[in-house]
Amino acid sequence: MSLKARAREKVERAGISNYSFDQDVLVMCGNRYTVESCDCGEPDCDGVRLLKDAPVAGRVLQ
Ligand SMILES: [Zn+2]
Repeated sequence: MSLKARAREKVERAGISNYSFDQDVLVMCGNRYTVESCDCGEPDCDGVRLLKDAPVAGRVLQ
């Protein structure tokens, strides 16, 4: 199963249906999450983790 498919499963298991994918980035509630594989070995690990991206505006230093 692809990372993307696993991420989709994880999100849907959490009861979230309002999400989309921008290429390989998960977009949920206005936030963007980078999907990474996880090999932490926890028994309840689903093999995928979501890293929250900083909002685009937050990257601009003034
Ligand atoms: Zn893990």
